[in-house]
Amino acid sequence: MRVVYLDNNATTRIADEVKEAMLPYLSEYYGNPSSMHTFGGQVHRRIEIAREQAAALINADPEEIIFTSCGTESDNTAIMSSLESVPHKKHIITTRVEHPAVLNFSKAMARKGYRVTFLPVNRSGKLDLDELKNSLTDSTAIASIMFANNESGNIFPIDEIAAFVRSKGVLFHTDAVQAVGKIPVSVKELPVDMMSISGHKIHAPKGVGALYIRRGVRFSPYIIGGHQEKGKRAGTENVASIIGFGVACELAKNHIQAINTRIRGLRDRLEKGLLSTCPDARINGDIENRLPNTTNISFEYVEGEAILLRLNEYNICASSGSACTSGSLEPSHVLRAMGVPFTAIHGSVRFSLSVYNTDEDIDLVLNVMPGIIKELRELSPYGRESK
Ligand code: PLP
Repeated sequence: MRVVYLDNNATTRIADEVKEAMLPYLSEYYGNPSSMHTFGGQVHRRIEIAREQAAALINADPEEIIFTSCGTESDNTAIMSSLESVPHKKHIITTRVEHPAVLNFSKAMARKGYRVTFLPVNRSGKLDLDELKNSLTDSTAIASIMFANNESGNIFPIDEIAAFVRSKGVLFHTDAVQAVGKIPVSVKELPVDMMSISGHKIHAPKGVGALYIRRGVRFSPYIIGGHQEKGKRAGTENVASIIGFGVACELAKNHIQAINTRIRGLRDRLEKGLLSTCPDARINGDIENRLPNTTNISFEYVEGEAILLRLNEYNICASSGSACTSGSLEPSHVLRAMGVPFTAIHGSVRFSLSVYNTDEDIDLVLNVMPGIIKELRELSPYGRESK
């Protein structure tokens, strides 16, 4: 049965071109890229092509890219390196809506004695830039603020934020895991010091990522060992995945246009259709500044988990901000930080599209959702009260 996959902010399918490029490096080309012999050397050269492809996607120079095991490692590395490069500074600034890769790492640093400011957001998920400006002090080592939010799709004004943070002599890192490949990102235009990317959000395999480190920025490796990645990240390279990631970056460059036209159109049609056919539904997030592939909708008086289970019967994949389905015991920290009422958090569903989605996918969701919501509301004690 066909799967209608609308959970692309969680992960994406591996593109056929990516898989094809990887296969030889899982069989005949198994040399170690650090070896002296030609057999290993050819693998090394292929990794350098992947580095050029990754750099081209964000308009960086290849020497400014290191490959990592995932977006989480890139995030942890950026923060740790910043703290180590200015050891007398003990303050971190981040936001309440970061991915756990930044949020929980910052909390762990707080337990080690660092002071951490978690900036709040308003009801539509926007940051108060004055609050950011007021929180910067002489002891601030790093500000780590995400480019785009994985749950709401909100895009933060990273150009403005980064320019201000750096004008105060503070290092700036952005988690661009959800932004890169969906909207144009150019580090030549953005004054960021470091930026995280992840492969599996752009049709590469899981378990590979990259960290952009601007030339001249002081850097301390997080994973220490051999001399790989010019001494910036030890460990024998995940060769096939890095090569796949490079190809995915090249594809992503070409996909951005389609995501901002055709896919944005599908997302808008889905959103409009659901809002007009399902009463008491409301969009969470900043409508004007959102990723073109994402919509997060709260359906009042129903459980998001129940909606997902019913969608699952039609092989439709989405995700919810309520507990359990999001893999955690707590309902979405992002929607809570935005002040979304508890009942609306519990009824929230995120649909996130990719270039592989079609009109038929959206038609199916629009056909089945009104019935699912009506039926669940009839079963729900809140639903009966609301009638
Ligand atoms: N940052 C953001 C915004 C994400 O959405 C994710 C993954 O969901 C990550 C970081 C972590 O990336 P990875 O799964 O590659 O560790």
